[in-house]
Amino acid sequence: MEITTDIEGGNGDVQYCYGDEAGITIRPDPGAVAQQWFHARVQTDSKSPHRIVIANAGSAPTRTRSRYRACASYDGSRWFRVRTTYDGRELVITHAPRARFVHYAYFAYYSEARRARLQRQVRRVPWAKIERIGESVRGRPIDVLTFGEDDADLHLWLVARQHSGEAMAEWLAEGFVGRLLDDDDETVRAVLSKAAVHVVPCANPDGAAMGHQRANAAGVDPNRAWSDPEDAPEIAAIRAAMDGTGVDLFLDVHGDERDPYCFLAGCEGNPSYSSRIRLLESVFEESLCTTNPDFQDEFGYDRDEPGEGDLRTASNWVGERYDCLSYTLEMPFKDNANAPDDRRGWSPERSAHLGHDVLSAMAEALPMLR
Ligand SMILES: [Zn+2]
Repeated sequence: MEITTDIEGGNGDVQYCYGDEAGITIRPDPGAVAQQWFHARVQTDSKSPHRIVIANAGSAPTRTRSRYRACASYDGSRWFRVRTTYDGRELVITHAPRARFVHYAYFAYYSEARRARLQRQVRRVPWAKIERIGESVRGRPIDVLTFGEDDADLHLWLVARQHSGEAMAEWLAEGFVGRLLDDDDETVRAVLSKAAVHVVPCANPDGAAMGHQRANAAGVDPNRAWSDPEDAPEIAAIRAAMDGTGVDLFLDVHGDERDPYCFLAGCEGNPSYSSRIRLLESVFEESLCTTNPDFQDEFGYDRDEPGEGDLRTASNWVGERYDCLSYTLEMPFKDNANAPDDRRGWSPERSAHLGHDVLSAMAEALPMLR
């Protein structure tokens, strides 16, 4: 077998490769922001099982890796889970591939080619447009996809993949955008009659291409840069675009390594948090619980105490600045423990389905937003 991490979104220094085994170590993000993402491509003519040993997986807290299984794909589009063991230090993938090339990654990688394909679909519909609002540290475009009219009464924003290794966020954005492309959908028509919907499918394109878990190319965690985006031009661009439209509802989409559930985190720790926002939260969350079989509101982060909200993060910063319903939406890296899928775990398809259903919850909350 041969192994390389010199691929888009690749991460892993190859330590050895002989027989049916290869060893890699995960490269930490610049600025030591995180160290979890791996993505390698194996080439082999053997049909017998091979082993990929990740020697330094133990740098992440043990609890994040229990019951974790790595993702694999032959074509970069359809992903499945493979046998993975973790002893608190080494992560070992064991797999007998059915094709000559196989990718292994921490989660199903969402590629630049797929992003471009989605943009081509968006360009074909007259109620949508794509605006380049800025550039990343390395000069990659920060694009906003907007559906509906610029002068709409309300502006709904969804930002995904600030943390580039949390690729499920961009799969969710694809499902969300896919629904907005269908004007036969009554919910889409109802939302767009009152609101414009703005989507940033990938807020950290450098990190995505360079194989970072969280950091941008300057070694900054974008989701700690909202109050001071000096070294995060990606966030400065999104903030400026939001100031141009105003924000009446905001969703910041992530993946969580610990909890095997989909859940929302609000801004109850913000200085301006009010009973009005609490009511909006209950409407939105109830709707999403009813609509999407994977969403639940029993498990999630501990609620912030009043005044404890971290205003460096997107959802808190946006909620405070615009006094609007504002959330972090988390999906699991592993699986939904309430509805496990042995073959695929938490998957691109389920992420996209949740993205589709998020629009229904937005529609439910829409009449009450202002
Ligand atoms: Zn995140």
